[in-house]
Amino acid sequence: MTPPNDARDGAHDAVRPITRERAERIARAHACIRCREYSYKKLVVKPASPSHHRDLGVLWQATLVCGVCGTEQELGIDAEGDVVYVG
Ligand SMILES: [Zn+2]
Repeated sequence: MTPPNDARDGAHDAVRPITRERAERIARAHACIRCREYSYKKLVVKPASPSHHRDLGVLWQATLVCGVCGTEQELGIDAEGDVVYVG
């Protein structure tokens, strides 16, 4: 049995907030809520508002416009890179 190679990315670093670049990649990896495609013609990541941050623990707020069906959706991403809400 060998320990996983990524052990140094484990527990101790988990609390370090993710970067905007990382939030963008997470948003891009999220399928469209309507057509399940990953092709976005517009993707904007900005810091979450203080109230969102306080109430939902959201760090980044991503606005995406689907390039296939045109649906606009909003993602909230927390400091660990998890999608907290989709709207
Ligand atoms: Zn779509």
